[in-house]
Amino acid sequence: MTTLLISHPSGLQHATPAGHPERADRIRAVERALEDERFATLQRVTAPQGTMAQVELCHPAAYAQAIAAASPEQGLVAIDADTTMSPGTLSAVLHGVGAAVHAVDEVMTGRAANAFSAMRPPGHHAETDRAMGFCFFNNAAIAARHAQQAHGAERVAILDWDVHHGNGTQEIFWSDASVLYASLHEMPLFPGTGAASERGEHGTIVNAPLRAGDGSDVFRDAFESAVLPRLAAFRPDLVIISAGFDAHWRDPLANLNLKEPDFAWATQKLMELADRHAGGRLVSILEGGYDLEGLSKSVAAHVMALMRG
Ligand SMILES: [Zn+2]
Repeated sequence: MTTLLISHPSGLQHATPAGHPERADRIRAVERALEDERFATLQRVTAPQGTMAQVELCHPAAYAQAIAAASPEQGLVAIDADTTMSPGTLSAVLHGVGAAVHAVDEVMTGRAANAFSAMRPPGHHAETDRAMGFCFFNNAAIAARHAQQAHGAERVAILDWDVHHGNGTQEIFWSDASVLYASLHEMPLFPGTGAASERGEHGTIVNAPLRAGDGSDVFRDAFESAVLPRLAAFRPDLVIISAGFDAHWRDPLANLNLKEPDFAWATQKLMELADRHAGGRLVSILEGGYDLEGLSKSVAAHVMALMRG
């Protein structure tokens, strides 16, 4: 079985203001890195466009329609301080949803061993009815609910190693014992949530905050002591990674010092967990990562690990 790489050209058409870190060059850098012959056996597919019904697995119809209605015919419209829509944004975010859902379909039915969605903008800051932090619809959360509703997954684990806390995913699943959300992130940092004391209504939220300057050792210790035992005890039917690469030492938006092998290591740990409890089923969804070299090399290490290379 193969690793699936899902993308769509609309990911390049979401324009952001000049100088904005969340830019189309991120996807170009990822695509260039994955063109290397080491990735020749990846199964590459074009993402279908997600539907409003899929968006509504996690967001109210009124919110989804408000985002669609805000889509400009030209220029940029600000949704919040750092989240803007261009004429290409709606198609990009819907294909991001479609990519996440398709990844789940292919992995849950056993047609792919695992999958990586290389779409932008990211999604983990999007709350039930609030766009923020470059995010509109929460792709990882929608993927989890889709796995439950379309494929009968009972327990889904979302592991978020983006350097920012995934406040949106936490908010969506705060009272849902069937989805475990675990995050390693720098704190204090945007968006301000993610203290270890935030545990959710059923104790299925696991936050492992790290401090500015922390690197590989602290990250791996926290991953092994605070996160992995909780994931193993949860026995997920599917593992979803909110894969941001802005904890890389080169990243301009944060101050952790991870290197590419750390992402490969964490990927392997989650694959072992998925092998033990979930028949290997694992879906990874691109979130942040704003230094083009750090992002592309880290994605390469991550996807190589997914391919068991
Ligand atoms: Zn981030």
